[in-house]
Amino acid sequence: MLTPSWRDGECYAGVSYSMVDATAKSLEVDVSYILGAALAHEIGHLLLGARSHVPRGVMCPRLGRQQLKMASRGELLFTPEQAARIRAEVAQRTGR
Ligand SMILES: [Zn+2]
Repeated sequence: MLTPSWRDGECYAGVSYSMVDATAKSLEVDVSYILGAALAHEIGHLLLGARSHVPRGVMCPRLGRQQLKMASRGELLFTPEQAARIRAEVAQRTGR
């Protein structure tokens, strides 16, 4: 994923499908949950910055079995504070 450089923020993020697929097989989890969680995490970095890890939710530093179970239930989320920051950042970038 590429995005124009914005202030001093992130402008590039990547997800390796081969790593997603290997993780899905090793954890016996549907690949779609891992791919979705990884993409949301990386988009979070593009909008929140490199130092945006928190202990819980989609921005936790490492997506393990517990986080992927939450993802399969639609419960792996940004924190309310992160969601508000993302909405504000998108509004600022798009002028809306
Ligand atoms: Zn991260």
